[in-house]
Amino acid sequence: MNQQKTKIKITNNMLKILNEIAAERQRQDAKWGEQNWNPVEWVAILGEEFGEVSKEAVEYHFIGKHSNMDENKADKVLQNYRKELIQTAAVCLAMIQSLERNELG
Ligand SMILES: [Mg+2]
Repeated sequence: MNQQKTKIKITNNMLKILNEIAAERQRQDAKWGEQNWNPVEWVAILGEEFGEVSKEAVEYHFIGKHSNMDENKADKVLQNYRKELIQTAAVCLAMIQSLERNELG
């Protein structure tokens, strides 16, 4: 079978975001040290982070929509939403690293 590798294109925008995720990973390691939870424990941690993403999305959509949230407040909520997405992505990265160190290592 002829398998051609697809060349991965990483845009500057992707690189900027990936750098933020890597920086968040370093921040988490500095705070908690290397984490080696089992998969079901990791999923619970991810669920906590995802819950924080959901909270910001709900606040932006429902509270903002029904209380005429001012533009500055709406922007702050969206910045928090973005921050929580970065944290969630960093946890996913930590989960993969832990999986490779432990269960697959
Ligand atoms: Mg968070």
